[in-house]
Amino acid sequence: MDGATPNDLTQVVTADKAHVWHHLIQHKPFETADPRIIVEGKGMRVWDHNGKEYLDTVSGGVWTVNVGYGRERIANAVRDQLVKMNYFAGTGGSIPGALFAERLISKMPGMSRVYYANSGSEANEKGFKMIRQIAHKRYGGKKHKILYRERDYHGTTVACMAAGGHDQRNAQYGPFPEGFIPVPHCMEYRADAQTLPHGATYGEAAANAIEEVILREGADTVGGLILEPVTAGGGVITPPEGYWQRVQEICKKYDVLLMIDEVVCGVGRTGTWFGYQQYGVQPDIVTMAKGVASGYAAISCCVTTEAVFDMFKDDTSDPLNYFRDISTFGGCTAGPTAALENMAIIEEENLLENCNTMGAYLMDALQGLAEKHSVIGDVRGKGLFNGLELVSDRTSKLPVEEAQIAAVLGECLKRGTMIGATNRSFKGFNNTLCFSPALICTKDDLDQLTATVDEALTAVFG
Ligand code: PMP
Repeated sequence: MDGATPNDLTQVVTADKAHVWHHLIQHKPFETADPRIIVEGKGMRVWDHNGKEYLDTVSGGVWTVNVGYGRERIANAVRDQLVKMNYFAGTGGSIPGALFAERLISKMPGMSRVYYANSGSEANEKGFKMIRQIAHKRYGGKKHKILYRERDYHGTTVACMAAGGHDQRNAQYGPFPEGFIPVPHCMEYRADAQTLPHGATYGEAAANAIEEVILREGADTVGGLILEPVTAGGGVITPPEGYWQRVQEICKKYDVLLMIDEVVCGVGRTGTWFGYQQYGVQPDIVTMAKGVASGYAAISCCVTTEAVFDMFKDDTSDPLNYFRDISTFGGCTAGPTAALENMAIIEEENLLENCNTMGAYLMDALQGLAEKHSVIGDVRGKGLFNGLELVSDRTSKLPVEEAQIAAVLGECLKRGTMIGATNRSFKGFNNTLCFSPALICTKDDLDQLTATVDEALTAVFG
C-alpha cells in the first residue's frame, strides 16, 4: 500500500469518529472501536487504515466497482474533462453526455433516450414521475398506480421506499405517498408448493399474481410496474423460466409501462449489458446507476423508449407538456466521461465474457460448498451476482440468526475477504450471503473467496 502515513490516519480516524455519520449502521460500537477506513484500492483488493489487505468480493460493498479499483484511464479522462468543462445544467448538452448516451443506447436495442441524474433512487424517481405524468396527460390522472414487488428495493427516497418491498427498512419512515401497490415476489425456494406448484409452470403462475393485482385494482388505474431483473438486496433472487415472458405479456395486455431497475444488474453484472437482456423482454423505462461508472463518478440514467419520450412533446400548445424535472448534478460531465471509459474497458477487456466464465466457475464452487455445509439452503446467481441462503435446517427453511450471519462476515474479514449479506430485507430475512466481485476477477480470486467462506461457515456452524 502506498499513500498516507499511520500518523495521518490516526487523525483521520479521530475526525471520522467525531464527525462522520456513516450509512446504514448503528454507531454505538464506535464508542469503543474504530471504524474501518478504506484508504486504497487496486484491482480486486483494498487496504484499510491499518494497512490490512482485503479481497473485495462485493465491488465496493454494494455491487458498484464493476471494473475494479485504480483505473488511471478513467481518472485521467475525468480530470481532462473537468479542466475543460466541468458543469453546465442539463437543459443544455455536453460532449460526454451526448457521446455516452449514443454508446449506451447502442447496447440497448429498442431504447432511445437517456435522462441523466446522480443516484439509483433519483433515476427511479424520474421513472415514477414519467409514469405519473403520462397518467395525467393521457388518462386524466387515473392510470397513476405503480406496482412494485415484495422483496424488491428501489432506493432510499420516500417515494422509492413507497415502491420498496423491504418492510424493515421502511418501518420508521412513513407515511408514504399513495398509489404504490405491492405484488407478490417470485421466489420458488420459499413459495408454498400447495398454492403454486413448483417446477416448469411456476414462473408463469407467479407472474399471474401480477395480473390478479391489476384486475383487483382496475387496469384503468395501473400505469406502471417496476421490477428488478434479479432481486439484489432482497436476497439475490433469480427469476425462473417463463416468468419474464408472462410479465411482458401482462404489461402489454393492460397497457402498463414496464420499468426495469438495473441499478445493480446494469452494465455487465449478470453477464449481459443489462439483466433484462437475459430474459428477452423489452422494457419501456430502464434505470441504472452503480456500475455505469463503477463508482469513479456519481451518475445514474433513466432510459426510455422513443414512444415514452414522444409523449412529452406531442402537444406543444399545452404549456405543461414537457417533463418538468431537473437534476442539478445531472449536468456534471464527470459522470458520462467516466461512464464512457468504463464501457470501453468492459469491451476492450472482454469483461462480459469473463463475467460469464467466472460466474459459472463461482456457481460450481458455491454448489460444492452446499454439498459440504447443510446450513446452505439455496444457491442462486446469474453471472457474477450470487447468493447463498443460510437456513437452520433444510426442511423448515428457517433462516439462521442474524448474529450468525454477522459472525460469518466477521470470520471472512478476519481472513482478509470482504463478503456481503442482505440487510434484514423482508419479514426479518437477513440470511443470504452475497457475492458480486468485479468483472475482472480471476479463478484465483474466486478460489480465495470460496476457501474463505468454507472456513467461515465451519467456524460458525461447525
Ligand atoms: N435500486 C436497486 C436495485 C438498488 O440496489 C439500489 C441501491 N442499493 C437502488 C436502486 C438505489 O440506488 P442509490 O443508492 O444509488 O440511490
